[in-house]
Amino acid sequence: MTRDRPLVAITGASSGIGEATARAFSAAGHPVLLMARRLDRLEALGLPNAVLARVDVRDRQAIAAAVSDAEAKFGPVDMMFANAGIARLGDIASQPPEEWDEMIDINTKGVMNSVHAVMSAMIARKHGTLMMMSSIAGRKVYPDHTVYCGTKFFVHAVSESFREYLAPHDVRVIVLSPGIIETEVLDHVNDKNTLAGYQANKKAIGGGISADVVAKLILDAYQMPQKAIVQEIVITPTRQKY
Ligand code: NDP
Repeated sequence: MTRDRPLVAITGASSGIGEATARAFSAAGHPVLLMARRLDRLEALGLPNAVLARVDVRDRQAIAAAVSDAEAKFGPVDMMFANAGIARLGDIASQPPEEWDEMIDINTKGVMNSVHAVMSAMIARKHGTLMMMSSIAGRKVYPDHTVYCGTKFFVHAVSESFREYLAPHDVRVIVLSPGIIETEVLDHVNDKNTLAGYQANKKAIGGGISADVVAKLILDAYQMPQKAIVQEIVITPTRQKY
């Protein structure tokens, strides 16, 4: 079934920025495809016209299958928010390399897998938006962010390349670069010193900003006429200097 407002797909919709964005687009009348590993958290959102899929973004076939399932119900995906990501921040000399692997696989290959699931169809329709989750850490480096920054610089690089490639096809590519946002992202930091330092800095600047603020910006950028593109969204707490 197709509706007035097109289908929007979001990876990492079970918490934080993805969850807030799911609520914002749903409230704006969009059917949504919500993907994450924690299906119970997707169910708890209780959003209407939603297809919920237990998806690990490292699994290219699983994303494609979820997209196909949702498109059968709601028509083509008009926006893919490649948002799922993990921040295992830590001292680079002592960090277990398995943490590098996890960030690289989820934050870089996961984004590529998400784009791959929808890009050809967007080109064929000459319509669509790829919302690429990078970070302020995709623009400059921070202590103990070594591999995380590497993954987010990757997202910036491929986003710009995709933007140039897709421009003649009228497909928009928007890269999103948030600073400190209040989410569950720090739950995955295992290095106690790194975590303490991050939290002290966050406290010193009066805390992060709400994921709802980011979600509103994403919706605003998406709602621009297709002929207009906000190429990058950089949003940080006012007090975040670096
Ligand atoms: P959260 O930890 O709250 O959300 C992360 C989301 O990603 C969850 O829904 C999680 O779902 C999902 N996810 C993680 N790994 C996978 C996976 N392998 N497969 C599918 N889904 C996965 O943090 P945020 O909302 O902050 O993070 C969202 C994005 O924003 C990330 O890419 C992060 O790097 C980026 N970001 C965050 C900033 C911040 O300050 N919060 C700043 C800049 C960028 P589940 O565990 O259920 O699979």
